[in-house]
Amino acid sequence: MPKTYKNPRYPYRRSPDQDGAASHHPVIIVGAGLVGLTAAVDLATRGVPSIVLDDDDTVSFGSRAICFSKRTLEIYDRLGIGEKLRAKGVTWNRGKVFFQDRMVYAFDLLPEGGHCWPAFMNLQQYYAEQWLVERAADLGLSDLRWRNKVTAVRQVGDRVALTVDTPDGPYDLTCDYLLAADGARSQVRHSLDLRFDGQVFQDRFLIADVIMQADFPSERWFWFDPPFHPGQSALLHRQPDNVWRIDLQLGRDADPEVEKQPERVVPRLKAMLGEAVDFELEWVSVYTFQCRRLKRFRHGRVFFLGDSAHQVSPFGARGGNGGVQDADNLCWKLAAVLDGRAGETLLESYDRERIPAADENILHSTRSTDFITPKNAATRAFRDATLELAAELPFARALVNSGRLSRAYCPPQAGAAPLGPGSPCPDLPLQRGNQRSWLLQQLRGDFCGLYFTDGPLSEAESGKLAHLAEVHPDLRHLVIAGQRCRDAGGWQDCEGILEARYGVPPGGYALIRPDQHVVGCWPALDCNTVTRSRARALALE
Ligand SMILES: Cc1cc2nc3c(=O)[nH]c(=O)nc-3n(C[C@H](O)[C@H](O)[C@H](O)COP(=O)(O)OP(=O)(O)OC[C@H]3O[C@@H](n4cnc5c(N)ncnc54)[C@H](O)[C@@H]3O)c2cc1C
Repeated sequence: MPKTYKNPRYPYRRSPDQDGAASHHPVIIVGAGLVGLTAAVDLATRGVPSIVLDDDDTVSFGSRAICFSKRTLEIYDRLGIGEKLRAKGVTWNRGKVFFQDRMVYAFDLLPEGGHCWPAFMNLQQYYAEQWLVERAADLGLSDLRWRNKVTAVRQVGDRVALTVDTPDGPYDLTCDYLLAADGARSQVRHSLDLRFDGQVFQDRFLIADVIMQADFPSERWFWFDPPFHPGQSALLHRQPDNVWRIDLQLGRDADPEVEKQPERVVPRLKAMLGEAVDFELEWVSVYTFQCRRLKRFRHGRVFFLGDSAHQVSPFGARGGNGGVQDADNLCWKLAAVLDGRAGETLLESYDRERIPAADENILHSTRSTDFITPKNAATRAFRDATLELAAELPFARALVNSGRLSRAYCPPQAGAAPLGPGSPCPDLPLQRGNQRSWLLQQLRGDFCGLYFTDGPLSEAESGKLAHLAEVHPDLRHLVIAGQRCRDAGGWQDCEGILEARYGVPPGGYALIRPDQHVVGCWPALDCNTVTRSRARALALE
């Protein structure tokens, strides 16, 4: 049994839906894992109730995600679990790459300041899930049904029909929209007879989470061919509770059952950590990895999110982070369609926006896995030569690939100035009198218009903003004054970095979607442009 965490057990409760004919619900989520719970909480923050069905009675078990990326942290802050994350998570921005017995280079994933969240926080996946369960309970709109196993799914006309097995026997449900977040072995995917395309890797990895008192810094350390594990790779990460994640590559022929035994694991760890270091095993497992996805994530009224839609190797921490960002993308759209503010065709943009993001994740994690596990002598020689060069020559560092770490997906060209459609909003610190905040913490709820100014608003400017607020009641405005603006009154860009991050001067305007992504960013405010862009963003034209 693990020593630092005791899985909560959530009770099975019989639902009134189990008596009588199939009940109908607007949204059902299959899977109360990391992604299904994120979707349930996101929908609840938007006032959308959901039924969440999970075949288990607890949060995740064993060694799973630990690295939560900046964008995921920003989403979780929006969903209301930011404070818990900050109190428990281990913050890191820096990493080191070693080859054999020396450090090749160090890197910093977030060298610039002015962001609320770091590049990464390490946290055991079960904590995040437990906090999402608690948050869902607080919001009161998600009906979490434990030990409810979905056994069959059918699309019937404009409904989705499900059969669910429980300790009291099976029952049926129908819904308008089904979110399949039931993980890599998705029953929903099997029921709809859908298959993954992609690559399965043969190399096996030992993942050991160990409890130890150690003074290594909170950084990601990756070794190629280290003296303590010759010919293979190793990875070290700090987690909360004095738990350390150690990944050791084992090769293709390793026997998982044998390699999991403490008498095999402990000598490997002692070789790495030193004979004198005291540690206890928390979890030990042996994994292989896949990099693959469904052709489409939307099938009629069924949407696949997270591991049910795509799988990646853990190098780069893209699996859970990618899934959380799927939920972030889909939930506001579903909420807008359900309350009649958006056209149904808006839901088509889920595939358009999340398939390229999944492809980017798959591409990076496939390349990392190829670099880490060379398949023949020639690729190994190339890899080792690259590592040798990287110690001296910065250009070679770009070729070293121990995992390109998860970043928010940005459509091509969207990152250029001014920020293009689809860019995730960059954060920046804000100040109002003595009060401090962050831009992303002010971008909550619905569509938001950001107006940048360098002085008190003129009558014409105020008039335009008032006009937009009148014609679009769902559009909130945030006026942000420049650093040098005296008596700003409202929020001020206190470090003077807004123009550089958004690429627009004072007088510029940005329209932001409810998922904190840019609809459009313009050097001047034109009401017709904003109205047309909002309509397009809601698939109303
Ligand atoms: C060793 C390892 C390390 C990793 N490290 C990272 C990392 O650092 N960062 C990162 O972002 N990702 C990481 N990942 C990936 C991450 O763990 C997954 O991508 C993430 O768990 C996917 O979440 P999910 O909700 O889609 O699926 P899951 O977490 O698998 O959840 C699926 C849920 O559906 C339920 N379910 C399944 N079938 C049914 C059914 N028929 N009916 C009802 N319920 C059902 C399950 O009980 C479960 O609760 C790692 C994975 C591994 C294995």
